[in-house]
Amino acid sequence: MLQQKESQILVVFPHPDDEAFGTSGTLAQYANAGVPITYACLTLGEMGRNLGNPPFATRETLPLIRKAELEASAKAIGIQDLRMMGLRDKTVEFEDDEKMVQMMTSLIDELNPSLIMTFYPNYAVHPDHEATAKAVVRAVRRMAPADRPRLYGLAFANNTLAELGQPDITNDIRDVKEHKMNSMKAHSSQTGWMMQEESKREEDGDTAEHNWFTDEGFYSYRWHEDFEQSF
Ligand SMILES: [Zn+2]
Repeated sequence: MLQQKESQILVVFPHPDDEAFGTSGTLAQYANAGVPITYACLTLGEMGRNLGNPPFATRETLPLIRKAELEASAKAIGIQDLRMMGLRDKTVEFEDDEKMVQMMTSLIDELNPSLIMTFYPNYAVHPDHEATAKAVVRAVRRMAPADRPRLYGLAFANNTLAELGQPDITNDIRDVKEHKMNSMKAHSSQTGWMMQEESKREEDGDTAEHNWFTDEGFYSYRWHEDFEQSF
């Protein structure tokens, strides 16, 4: 269940579907509670590997498909303010660092979020994820400590558990399973295989107590273990 009262949430991820796996249940709970959510999605995932077999998309049409999927996912979650920030997929890591920080700073200045959700720097696996997480941390770091919003990171590198331990925030999301399913299904061009796996899991009577549809976990950013001293 939700552990904090929030006035405004800002979610920042680089790819359509990043929001679906790790955060859509929690976000749906906040949306149900009437908390305004802004999702800044940095790219349209236009370099997505999956064009289908037989192909359902070309390099030209894939961004349009993924844009529609992103809109459907946001709707399933209950996100009303979806921003597509127009960066190019697979190139976020090559964007100018200061430009990235400025992008985050202007979102924070405009929205005054009480909570920001993104990836956890150094535990986010993909270079675009890392670049996104680092820009968010840098922007928040520039704020006076007393003014900083809560900052939750999603971490899924192999060494996460060994180094960060268990997430300090765990949400039971079973009451919004439907929302999460619909968010993941919305990204069918990328997640079709996963959804098949999930229905197979259910058919097989898998009774694993914890999975994508029962819990979501986050790490409060550890300023005392900042990934860099300053920027
Ligand atoms: Zn991603």
